[in-house]
Amino acid sequence: MPEIEQITVNCPKCGKQSKFTPREAISVTVEPQMKKKVLDGSIFHISCPYCGEQLFVDYSVLYHDMEKRALIQYSDTEEYEKTAYELFYGEHRIEAVENLFKAGYWIRFVHSQKGLSEKITILDAGLDDRVVELYKILLVHKFFKDHPEFARAKAFYVRKDGQGYIQINPQDGRPVVSKIVPELYSEIVKIFEPKLPAAWKEGPYIDQQWALDFLKKEGEKAL
Ligand SMILES: [Zn+2]
Repeated sequence: MPEIEQITVNCPKCGKQSKFTPREAISVTVEPQMKKKVLDGSIFHISCPYCGEQLFVDYSVLYHDMEKRALIQYSDTEEYEKTAYELFYGEHRIEAVENLFKAGYWIRFVHSQKGLSEKITILDAGLDDRVVELYKILLVHKFFKDHPEFARAKAFYVRKDGQGYIQINPQDGRPVVSKIVPELYSEIVKIFEPKLPAAWKEGPYIDQQWALDFLKKEGEKAL
């Protein structure tokens, strides 16, 4: 992994400076109690050692689930992501990384803390993140049709009480949440899964852009 440095944090309450050494990787197989902290974002919160104020820190972290053979890399800077990309997909990747691919590891890269918890939630729900991205496209498309006043929106998969939802966050607007309809999800699986390689063979970027590119390619093939 790229080298991790200590983070200097300035406390807005007491004005003192403290140092924090972030975790570069978290294996939830070794430390299952860490999963909740990654999901709720509390791994990115620390207490000021002088006054106890809750401080927010941002850092890159690799999430590892050995049982599910899954890795999710969250990079907080482009530079970190480049190094991580080189490590996993570069020409000279080391044998240990090579072995992950041989073992059929599912590898994803995300750019936000929210994106990290979303990927974990999708993984744990046993869903195919590509199908979820395609599902999101359908909903976002409908959202813009119904709400032409919004120009931009981000969609996330969330889970509550065992039920999956898509939450659409329009820029400068209130979030809209809709339940995942299993029939619609199955329909997308039926249509697109035969055209998709095994989920672990894809990556590391499975997001809305991936879904748009995929649909464009399919559309061109159909012409
Ligand atoms: Zn403080």
